[in-house]
Amino acid sequence: MWPMENTLNIIGGGMAGSEAAWQAANAGIKVVIHEMRPKVETFAHRTGNLGEMVCSNSFRSDDHEQNAVGLLHWEMMQAGGLIMKTAYAHRLPAGGALAVDRDPFAESVTQALTSHPNIRVSYDEITALPDDGHWIIATGPLTSGALAEAIKAETGAEALAFFDAIAPIIYHDSINMDVAWMQSRYDKGETLEEQTAYLNCPMTKDQYEAFIDALLAADKTEFKEGETAGYFDGCLPIEVMAERGRETLRFGPMKPVGLTNANDPQNKPYAVVQLRRDNALGTLFNIVGFQTKMKYGAQKQVLKMIPGLEDAEFARLGGIHRNTFINSPTLLDAQMRLKSRPNIRFAGQITGVEGYVESAAMGLLAGRMAVAEMTGQTLAAVPDTTAMGALVTHITGGAEAKTFQPMNVNFGLFPSVDTVKGGRKRRKERYKAYTDRAKADWSAWLEQMLRSAA
Ligand SMILES: Cc1cc2nc3c(=O)[nH]c(=O)nc-3n(C[C@H](O)[C@H](O)[C@H](O)COP(=O)(O)OP(=O)(O)OC[C@H]3O[C@@H](n4cnc5c(N)ncnc54)[C@H](O)[C@@H]3O)c2cc1C
Repeated sequence: MWPMENTLNIIGGGMAGSEAAWQAANAGIKVVIHEMRPKVETFAHRTGNLGEMVCSNSFRSDDHEQNAVGLLHWEMMQAGGLIMKTAYAHRLPAGGALAVDRDPFAESVTQALTSHPNIRVSYDEITALPDDGHWIIATGPLTSGALAEAIKAETGAEALAFFDAIAPIIYHDSINMDVAWMQSRYDKGETLEEQTAYLNCPMTKDQYEAFIDALLAADKTEFKEGETAGYFDGCLPIEVMAERGRETLRFGPMKPVGLTNANDPQNKPYAVVQLRRDNALGTLFNIVGFQTKMKYGAQKQVLKMIPGLEDAEFARLGGIHRNTFINSPTLLDAQMRLKSRPNIRFAGQITGVEGYVESAAMGLLAGRMAVAEMTGQTLAAVPDTTAMGALVTHITGGAEAKTFQPMNVNFGLFPSVDTVKGGRKRRKERYKAYTDRAKADWSAWLEQMLRSAA
């Protein structure tokens, strides 16, 4: 047994837990990974391996100049990331995407961790929140029931979700403001900012009818048996609302009341689609009440029928999935610690990031943060101009807590780069400016961290 005060305990040996363990162990910290599989199974995992990919075998785009997730690959490689290094070692041909041979990948991750002199793996389920010692909870979207209950008891039911009902999120600079306007219903609010908090897209009767027709005809992903139990009533998908009656949406999320079209004040819209700011930077807007199970291709087609959104670019499309995650913006501090119990950090998908790469990235950071704390170093804040920093800033305070939903990494989370907006060529230049800036800032942060650890 290693002494508790000098040991980092990590619950969950998935993408995040495995990466956190690797980072800490390589920095000389003793690590125990507590993984419940294969003793306790989840409905999606198939093996007892660490780092198992539960569904697709893709780490998405590997373009580190033009794509935010590709940039995250690059940043993790610079930081000696196990998950990325192993993914490249088991790469399959897939064009610009990084596809991975899943079983050899997970076997290699397991081998690297179990053979590390600073790591032990304990195959047990943790069912309560630990009172002392250094801990990282990285139990993912399928956190076991007992632990989820313990988290709920600590944080309150409101702060723990078991499903994500995601409304599509759109880049603000792709919305046509000659059509849309900013106004809160009935100009509600004390300040001008509050009175203009929503972005509104107006519809005529013909446009509304055509929209409902398209919604009803669109390709949808079917719910699996039992999938809807317990969450369905509060967040009906828009297509289900439309099936209940053609006017249902007009009396629900698309009601036109309390609004005057600033671009055409004489004409009362027949229906209005509202969007709400999704991050502090104001670069992302979510469509209010528009959770949907439409397939991705259909979603883009149907949503672009909304006046003002014809050229919309989506930071993420809508969906409804099984997913356990906490309300990180209210619960975690900037060091990813639970404010009410700072001996516990959270990492991975349970913090409200989405995807293998993002989860591993948050594991990497949580591991590094734990090392700094345990060795008495001061870790500078990760610059929010990097993919890592943009993600961690988003979940620990940048995102709107009230509407917090899991998020992939995307350029909308980054502070804007100072270039002209719009146009295809310009977008390419803009993305390159984001990634150049991120690489410089991430390299400088890593260098500083390694210097202070030496
Ligand atoms: C059905 C499904 C399909 C998905 N498909 C994709 C996809 O195609 N692409 C994608 O990028 N992402 C997908 N995701 C999201 C995916 O789960 C995450 O991207 C990633 O696996 C999250 O990493 P993580 O480390 O946070 O969680 P995980 O990789 O799930 O790891 C968490 C680990 O914690 C363990 N654990 C849970 N509770 C306990 C406990 N109490 N004690 C001990 N151990 C525990 C689990 O067994 C698991 O090994 C999917 C999720 C689900 C649920």
